[in-house]
Amino acid sequence: RGAVSSHELVKIYGNGPTAVRALDGVSVRFHAGEFTAIMGPSGSGKSTLLHCLAGLDRAGSGTVHIGPAELGSLNDTRLTRLRRDRIGFVFQSFNLLPALTAEENILLPMRLSGRELDRTWFATIVDMLGLRDRLRHKPSELSGGQQQRVACARALVGRPDVVFADEPTGNLDSRTGAGVLEFLRTSVRELGQTVVMVTHDPVAASYAGRVVLLADGRVAGEIFQPTPESVL
Ligand code: ADP
Ligand code: ADP
Repeated sequence: RGAVSSHELVKIYGNGPTAVRALDGVSVRFHAGEFTAIMGPSGSGKSTLLHCLAGLDRAGSGTVHIGPAELGSLNDTRLTRLRRDRIGFVFQSFNLLPALTAEENILLPMRLSGRELDRTWFATIVDMLGLRDRLRHKPSELSGGQQQRVACARALVGRPDVVFADEPTGNLDSRTGAGVLEFLRTSVRELGQTVVMVTHDPVAASYAGRVVLLADGRVAGEIFQPTPESVL
């Protein structure tokens, strides 16, 4: 259900002699229950790939499947609904709404989609992320690490099939970052989710079962890692 794949994905920015082939034929599969890191040098196309896989950006050619749905064949309304109901996003910038409390921010996706909240899961998330005594705070009253954990809780509260994370630990100290990664790993295990994370941090990548390497808009290799427990 939550498998994600691309076939011969091409994305070109600009045109003429200054055009940049950000993705130059990327075919890659991510399975349900798999935590994958995408790594590669700056400018290798990691963010572009994540945005195309997540339906935030449309590719020039090639296909992306999320479960049975091919993103290119969905109109904007259906694409928006798929993102809202099936996908969680964790970004380096937290995008929390400043007027809402932490709890209201976390519950916002559920409100918007009108789905019923699983209170047990909500409590599990809040406890794992250490947010129990921060739920009534506004984002401005939280540290950067706390804001990222709120954003993480918001991404996971609806039990999405697929989670896309773009440098989720980029703004965090190592202890807070480890908490977020530990949480993602638990979520993959508990919910059988597909988690795809872009990172340049080898420590963050060590939490993934597989690392896909990008170079110049192409898949340059992949590394399967032993179970994270044996690494750490
Ligand atoms: P990474 O995430 O690996 O650093 P990106 O996907 O951000 O790589 O970028 C891949 C290439 O596409 C780079 O050469 C970058 O300069 C270019 N690029 C990315 N976004 C845009 C854009 N909006 N307009 C023009 N070029 C872009
Ligand atoms: P965390 O406490 O979650 O590890 P950070 O790593 O982002 O948070 O921040 C490091 C420390 O700086 C935190 O322990 C926190 O006390 C303090 N801090 C950072 N930003 C803020 C803020 N906006 N308001 C209050 N304290 C902050």
